[in-house]
Amino acid sequence: MTDEDVIKASTLLNITSIEFIHKYLKHHEDIGLYIEVLEDKPCVFLKDNKCLINDSKPEQCRTFPYWEEYVDKNGNLLRRKFDRPCPGAKSK
Ligand code: SF4
Repeated sequence: MTDEDVIKASTLLNITSIEFIHKYLKHHEDIGLYIEVLEDKPCVFLKDNKCLINDSKPEQCRTFPYWEEYVDKNGNLLRRKFDRPCPGAKSK
């Protein structure tokens, strides 16, 4: 998550950015702050197939599946199936 993502999501949840980071995020030295999503552990913000922070979800979720590795040079999707798509990525 970018700093802006953290600020938006923490504001939406009415907690401080520091609280949000400590409570919900992991850190990796190569990619920075992220929400952990595992095969047997869906995102903590996924509830009833909807994203609880939909209005402030991270860019990676907002833009899924139109990621660089999934589109051609014209922006067309190269595939239709994805391994573990989050249902919340499409929720409005
Ligand atoms: S779209 Fe899915 S992975 Fe992204 S924040 Fe929402 S629930 Fe989590």
